[in-house]
Amino acid sequence: MAIDLISIDEARARILAEASPLATESRPLADALGMVLGEEIVAAHSVPRFDNAGMDGYAVRSVDTIGGTPDSPRRLSVVETIPAGRAPARELGSGEAAKIMTGAPVPQGADAVIQSELTEESDNEVLIFDSTDPGKNIRCAGEDVMAGDRVMGLGDALGPAEIGLIASLGYPTVVVHRRPRVAIVSTGSELIEVDRPLGPGQIHNSNSYSLQAQCRQLGIDPMMLGIVPDDYESTLQLMRKGMEYDVLLTSGGVSVGQFDFVKDVHDELGVERRLWGVRMKPGKPLAFGVRGDTLVFGLPGNPVSVMVSFELFVRPALLRLMGHRKTTRPLYRAIITEDAANSDGRVFVVRVRAWRENGCWRVSTTGPQGSGILRSMVGANGLAFVPGGSRGVRAGEEVDFLLLREDLEEL
Ligand code: AMP
Ligand code: MG
Repeated sequence: MAIDLISIDEARARILAEASPLATESRPLADALGMVLGEEIVAAHSVPRFDNAGMDGYAVRSVDTIGGTPDSPRRLSVVETIPAGRAPARELGSGEAAKIMTGAPVPQGADAVIQSELTEESDNEVLIFDSTDPGKNIRCAGEDVMAGDRVMGLGDALGPAEIGLIASLGYPTVVVHRRPRVAIVSTGSELIEVDRPLGPGQIHNSNSYSLQAQCRQLGIDPMMLGIVPDDYESTLQLMRKGMEYDVLLTSGGVSVGQFDFVKDVHDELGVERRLWGVRMKPGKPLAFGVRGDTLVFGLPGNPVSVMVSFELFVRPALLRLMGHRKTTRPLYRAIITEDAANSDGRVFVVRVRAWRENGCWRVSTTGPQGSGILRSMVGANGLAFVPGGSRGVRAGEEVDFLLLREDLEEL
């Protein structure tokens, strides 16, 4: 049967059309990184809750400091010491100061904090070498969040700052869309687990590992269902088990070879096919369908193809299931630094190193680009798209690319 190829965008659209955010559940805040809110976060109290010192120093009445200079300091009596975490014992009167630490509540009567560096303490008195304005070095109640503020809403993704802010409001749990349960199956009679020696014609199963790692980058810990040989019955058994998950990822066996059973098994299990074949290389053979609530991906077997297909199709679907509105990485234009021939009708997805130069993105390929050459993925921080057609692109021309990760700078 000839493969009916569709474009990358069309394939992604058909897949996303089947992926709706999963049900919400309450999770411990510490486990919510990368998840998406299914509730509004409304502040039950202000942050900070009380006016507090922004510096170590002395809480004062600002009027008492007027005219203070190094040559003619003001002299105030120190009536208490207020460490962080303790309430002031008393209201501050005229001519009085309270020694205060950063974060400690400012006592009633005080309207400024003068930093220690501008003072000198001796015998329950403090010399003030500067005059200060009202409000100086005081962090006011509610300056971050006011009680009753709606600080986040449905569909907002939780990063470290969002989690920190929710913690500051004193909420130990959050309602978020649950993570999808994902099962991974590798098909192929040639596959051997990584801890076993290779016999003739055998290779180690690497796809399960790269797919597992790609899932883990999304905070999803997939179920590794293992390897299944190219045998119809065994494939059927294991894939039937995979149907108990939200998402089933298989690799290999989805092409037109004599022992490629994955699509037949989809049919037998009642998977409704939404696509088979994408106009790209690597990654042409891709079967996607749905069965009940399960999204079923028959990914290609070649180690690069499987990772590229995950990146372009599975990752957006998983993000959408998790409730994310944004599901694709940023697409930029870059100047390619060498020729990339592509006489094929399919889009050539080139693994590239991308960097900024004079305010422009540049990309260069990561070496030989065969679909089995996993080293082309190693060190790649981008995927460039060279259109199908007659000639590809020449050095110095522009291409679109997806930035897979931002690089750190060496110091
Ligand atoms: P297939 O689509 O099953 O014909 O597989 C295409 C190529 O990918 C073959 O050379 C397979 O040996 C290889 N391959 C398939 N599955 C895996 C895997 N799990 N790990 C590494 N290579 C694989
Ligand atoms: Mg195979």
